[in-house]
Amino acid sequence: MSDKDRQEQGTTAEQAKQDSSGEKKEYEDVCFICRRPESKAGKMFHLPNNICVCDDCMHKTMDAVSQYDYQGMLSNPALFNMLNNQFTRKSGGEEETDKEENQESQTTKGFPNISFINLADLGNDGIPRKQKIKKKSKEDKAKPVFDIRSIPAPHRIKEQLDQYVVGQEHAKKVISVAVYNHYKRVATGTMDDIEIEKSNILMIGPTGCGKTYLVKTLARLLDVPLAIADATSLTEAGYIGDDIESVVSKLLAAADNDVEKAEQGIIFIDEIDKIAKKRNSSQRDVSGESVQQGMLKLLEGSQVEVPVGANSKNAMVPLTTVNTRNILFICGGAFPDLDNIIKERLKKQASIGFGAELKDKYDQDKTILEKVTLEDLRKFGMIPEFLGRLPIVFTLQGLSEEMLVQILREPKNAILKQYQKLLALDEVKLTFDDGALHAIAKKAMEKDTGARALRAIIEEFMLDIMYEIPKDDSIGEVTITKGYIEGTAGPLIALRSQQVMRIGS
Ligand code: ADP
Repeated sequence: MSDKDRQEQGTTAEQAKQDSSGEKKEYEDVCFICRRPESKAGKMFHLPNNICVCDDCMHKTMDAVSQYDYQGMLSNPALFNMLNNQFTRKSGGEEETDKEENQESQTTKGFPNISFINLADLGNDGIPRKQKIKKKSKEDKAKPVFDIRSIPAPHRIKEQLDQYVVGQEHAKKVISVAVYNHYKRVATGTMDDIEIEKSNILMIGPTGCGKTYLVKTLARLLDVPLAIADATSLTEAGYIGDDIESVVSKLLAAADNDVEKAEQGIIFIDEIDKIAKKRNSSQRDVSGESVQQGMLKLLEGSQVEVPVGANSKNAMVPLTTVNTRNILFICGGAFPDLDNIIKERLKKQASIGFGAELKDKYDQDKTILEKVTLEDLRKFGMIPEFLGRLPIVFTLQGLSEEMLVQILREPKNAILKQYQKLLALDEVKLTFDDGALHAIAKKAMEKDTGARALRAIIEEFMLDIMYEIPKDDSIGEVTITKGYIEGTAGPLIALRSQQVMRIGS
């Protein structure tokens, strides 16, 4: 059948494709309501304006409408147009008052709670005007520090990280190089000609040492979307819990549903050690080994169908395809007991020769995690295929007291700076003496949750200060002392008239 014939018959392009069943179709129809393609949703109904609706959606709509006496309305063009006009007239700026008026007019017409789609409203862009949602007020977006299209050299990335993340020199260096290589490949598209392995990353470090913080800072500097997921909530598809692919829909949400942006984003999967293979388990390991296996495809790069604007797939949620080939996956975990596995291996190696002396050495070694090998991780319960897709492995150190003091004081948005700023708004100067900072760090060390404990400790004793100080206008300066942190004395208060006194002493 030639093109001319088609025109003569006045069929649409879609219909033409169907007519010529012998020809191979290049495009398939997509349901206007649920966005599923014909291959998934089955045969489509063709409506005017090249709109297709799948069988399911058509039935759902008809079911809803058929509860009321609509018979004759659709076949009666006069009535149909009248209803349509009624709704189109309102589409101009009167949306605010629509609700009440709609209800009223619908009731008077005898079709309560039914709103009819005016096909003319759908327009060429395919978006019903009536369903427009209010735009978020645009904030003045800060200019990103880096542009991933012209990614700066690794040392410049690290310099920026230094301003936020204290210590962890090795980790910052490795991640800067990995990110540099990754985005260079993405920007130049070299991944197409030569199959270069993706630089997915595995971070090992105790809790609260800055794993998440490092990734968050990096994503902010690069202005790429970031999704943070918890491996503990993931299960094999079909079981209670989140599907593995849900991490990609999280990323899509973080990218404001912009697929192109999401495809260059970062996915951070925390607590990755919790999906280690369960030892001595005869049952199906749906939240451990199966999750690792399910993640293989994602890590490597594959097309994933994800729901737009929702967490789970169902017929009424539009789907879109995201390619994970350029998404950088970073996995992080504390890997408790990994140190024992490493020690065991090292001791075994050392037992030939200078045995006894070396065994002690490993027990005291604080940097034991740095000696981790893939063999140790495999023993921990990570499957080799999974580890193979995370070519960059590095460790972060546990934080020392000195590092905690630095975290309190030095980063660009350090906790102390935040409190100082808050009190500065009341024109009160807040200072912490060195002894106080060390006392806070010491308390945090006892809690064994890394830097995470710092905020809790500070909030606890800053509560009184934040409550009492604004009461008294004459206070000009507050100094937090070691005594105050340890509960043996009060903070030093200086009045605006230069007089110094101690509260509670
Ligand atoms: P985890 O390693 O468990 O992911 P986080 O990255 O969530 O720990 O750290 C918790 C908080 O501690 C962060 O929000 C950050 O404020 C602070 N923090 C941790 N490590 C550092 C660090 N090295 N430099 C600066 N702040 C840090």
